[in-house]
Amino acid sequence: MKVYSQYLEHPIFGIVSDAAAELGVRCFTIGGFVRDCFLGRPCNDIDIVVEGSGIELATVVSRRVKANLAVYRNFGTAMFKYKGMEIEFVGARKESYHRESRNPVVEDGTLEEDQCRRDFTINAMAFSLQREDYGALVDPFGGMSDLKNGIIRTPLDPDTTYSDDPLRMIRAVRFATQLGFRIVPESLESIKRNVGRLDILSRERIADELAKILLSKTPSTGFYLLEQTGLLEKFLPQLSALKGVETQDGKGHKENFSHTLKVLDNVAAMELEMGRESNLWLRWAALLHDVGKPATKKFDQKAGWSFHAHDFIGARMVPQIFKQLKMPLNEKMKYVQKLVGLHLRPIALVDDIVTDSAVRRLLFDAGDDIDDLMILCNADITSKRDNVVRRHKENYKLVKEKLVEVEAKDAIRNFKNPIDGELVMKHFGIPPCNAIGQIKEYVKEAILDGRIENNFDQAFVLMEEKGAELGLRPVSLSEDDARS
Ligand code: ATP
Ligand code: MG
Repeated sequence: MKVYSQYLEHPIFGIVSDAAAELGVRCFTIGGFVRDCFLGRPCNDIDIVVEGSGIELATVVSRRVKANLAVYRNFGTAMFKYKGMEIEFVGARKESYHRESRNPVVEDGTLEEDQCRRDFTINAMAFSLQREDYGALVDPFGGMSDLKNGIIRTPLDPDTTYSDDPLRMIRAVRFATQLGFRIVPESLESIKRNVGRLDILSRERIADELAKILLSKTPSTGFYLLEQTGLLEKFLPQLSALKGVETQDGKGHKENFSHTLKVLDNVAAMELEMGRESNLWLRWAALLHDVGKPATKKFDQKAGWSFHAHDFIGARMVPQIFKQLKMPLNEKMKYVQKLVGLHLRPIALVDDIVTDSAVRRLLFDAGDDIDDLMILCNADITSKRDNVVRRHKENYKLVKEKLVEVEAKDAIRNFKNPIDGELVMKHFGIPPCNAIGQIKEYVKEAILDGRIENNFDQAFVLMEEKGAELGLRPVSLSEDDARS
């Protein structure tokens, strides 16, 4: 039996070990922590499984280290934070499942029984915390060898494991993506057979796993697997719909599924290269940027294939996609929607000549998200033809330089109209009415068009001009008039 006490240096393990000995129960650290020790991955949570009451052991230990204990009676678990770690305790259990739900009937069990209900062999390994064999590896399913060979495999027959809790199918894909591992063929086949079981899953849990796939270094791996197994079709059919190439008169269009995944990988690579923190919502935007293409696809004998307005249609599809995955319809959703809607704008700028006013309008529409939009736009350049890529990259650079130049001059990014409603009302002595909106719009348009600079004095002159056109007179003037 191999002993790995070097991985149990965190002071909590000794304290847990002593407390368990005093209570006369056996306990182990299990799952992600053990796996990540061997992989040398950082890990901030420790799971402790107890042959007995997890809550009781957690209570004793948390008192000793003076930590605040959170108890979840319904799940039989308890958790506290200590010296940078989240430590969760659970009683070892044996489970059986109903077909209608992923909530199991739970009974007390042994470590071995508990390991059987784990998702993968690499997640089922445990280190003993008993004094007599402290740090001994308990690995009944060959998790260590699967870890070395980069293999995702279920401890039991995959049909049992996946059917009992279908979330495990998506977790398999997630771990394969995060770790660069291979799902064994019998597991892949089993996933294909059990795709229908996904219906009992809550969409939130799917979205959580999707987020982890999206935030991986090469997210495309996960989406190819999801597609290939038939899982994707179940919860994101709008993305599966991007698959395939149609041919007419010998002309085919771009394969939009692989293009999308390439763009997603590009965004991930660029974030890394730029030393930026991974932005989940930028990755969602990359994943969905072309989702409007199937609905807008057309063939014209002269012009060939087109996806006219797919940016606009795609943006309109975003809320529904968020809704079907039970993701919040908040400012993150609006951000994704905005980037999808604007993703063609930077490159389109070059097709006309880059005028300052077009650049100002882009800055105005993108606001603070302009840098993210430019990353997406750069990532979107994926042609197989080198000269096309080169031309687009040059154009992209041109737009980028122009953006910096115009922003330095006109500060449009966080555009705030120099003229506000208060001022208009006071100046013309009028109550709230739609003339105010018209005047402000007039000033804004003049600034974006470059007819005036973005400053108060020039804006003030235009306010007076537009007011006069609308038959308004400044308050002070009308008083003068009255006197004469
Ligand atoms: P990460 O923390 O990166 O998500 P993890 O493997 O630690 O990875 P957790 O969700 O924290 O995943 O779960 C901890 C452990 O609990 C896993 O290693 C696994 O042993 C077990 N586990 C979690 N979810 C399931 C599940 N749906 N089915 C079976 N076992 C699971
Ligand atoms: Mg974990």
